[in-house]
Amino acid sequence: MQGAPVLLVIGIHREELAFGRAVAKGLDPQQIQVLTVPEGLSGRRPLPDQSFNYQTLHRALYQQLLPYVLGHHSVLLDLHSGCDTAGPSADLICAGAGWRDALEQEIDRRPDFHKQDVRIVPLGIESEFPHAHTVIPKKIWHNPRFTYLGLEVYLPETVDGQNAGRDLAKSLVMLVAELATRPLADST
Ligand SMILES: [Zn+2]
Repeated sequence: MQGAPVLLVIGIHREELAFGRAVAKGLDPQQIQVLTVPEGLSGRRPLPDQSFNYQTLHRALYQQLLPYVLGHHSVLLDLHSGCDTAGPSADLICAGAGWRDALEQEIDRRPDFHKQDVRIVPLGIESEFPHAHTVIPKKIWHNPRFTYLGLEVYLPETVDGQNAGRDLAKSLVMLVAELATRPLADST
């Protein structure tokens, strides 16, 4: 591996790119390299008759990330945002139990995280996150050569709330970067 352990991808969904840029600003490039998708897809849910197209485009876009990750980074961190009037809150989505346990432990132990605001969501066959499960190719979320982590941050509409959401996202990105330098039990 060369370079930063973590590749942070922003802008997979174009409506979320501005938030991604705000989160990416000022990160340490030794720890986190940022990949901006300049022309992402729409993150809005497709109409039923467009759903095949929506999935195909997502799969193709995620597929294109592979050469950026393989041999360069051990973690692919895929940032998204959504809305939550009671937020900010966040979901961290990962197929690897070792990673989920480590994240859970750290979030429990650190006073700067409100435990109730961050959910660790398993990704896999029995996923609670069927959306990602259908649009992200398995080669991305289940690859022996790197760990995929989805980070979805839910933002309220107020300016203060959005700033708090950005700060929450930044803290979680930095936590992932810190954990990426430690040996974990598994990468499955
Ligand atoms: Zn998104």
